[in-house]
Amino acid sequence: MGTERPRILLLGPPGAGKGTQSENLVSAFDLDHVTTGDALRANKDMETEYGTPREYMDAGELVPDPVVNEIVAAALEDADGYVLDGYPRNLSQAEYLDEITTLDHVLFLDVDREELLRRLTGRRVCPECGKTYHVEFNQPETEGVCDACGSELTQRDDDTEDVVNERLDVYDENTLPVVEYYRDQGELIEIDGNDSPDGVWETIQSTLE
Ligand code: ADP
Ligand code: AMP
Repeated sequence: MGTERPRILLLGPPGAGKGTQSENLVSAFDLDHVTTGDALRANKDMETEYGTPREYMDAGELVPDPVVNEIVAAALEDADGYVLDGYPRNLSQAEYLDEITTLDHVLFLDVDREELLRRLTGRRVCPECGKTYHVEFNQPETEGVCDACGSELTQRDDDTEDVVNERLDVYDENTLPVVEYYRDQGELIEIDGNDSPDGVWETIQSTLE
């Protein structure tokens, strides 16, 4: 407790590279990676009073705030420094986050929509260890096999073109106002995320220095 680890919020549309850059941040600063997407995928069939997360996720819609807020509150309570990825996704979540923590850095990875479509439809993930790859931009050493743990890579249920388009619309409608919210507070560090993974990481490092 009480160490110097930063509390970083990583904002950006689906496919912007938040998971990819979170891995870098976690290694560089010894942070916890708090990501609502992974937490929800691990509990997709959990019964809540709003139904299961799966019903929303497979359609590309947001899971109701009370379910997600509870996950984040529990994860941040246990974290010292962290990188938060995938939350907040609407203004009400942003206001809730203000009540439960204080952020040191708010980074916004901005990427063009066409590029997001390419990244999301080509994404492959390891179902065992969570590592992320891309069929073209970030290939594993052996096609279809995770470098880290040797498991067979899979495609997320919501990385199909139809659901991706819906997720990007949901982002524009609900999450862009969150970007504005932090911009208005003068806290937003904007990063061009269209560059290569290494190029984006270099930009992030130089902004945090
Ligand atoms: P997010 O967590 O924001 O949804 P990911 O980190 O999972 O995004 O990245 C989405 C996909 O794009 C993955 O397949 C990943 O390998 C790939 N990717 C990530 N960053 C880049 C980049 N800078 N250039 C090209 N592809 C990238
Ligand atoms: P992600 O892994 O961040 O792309 O999230 C995948 C899906 O999980 C989203 O499309 C939503 O259905 C759900 N989800 C993740 N984070 C949140 C959040 N903060 N609020 C609501 N739903 C979320």
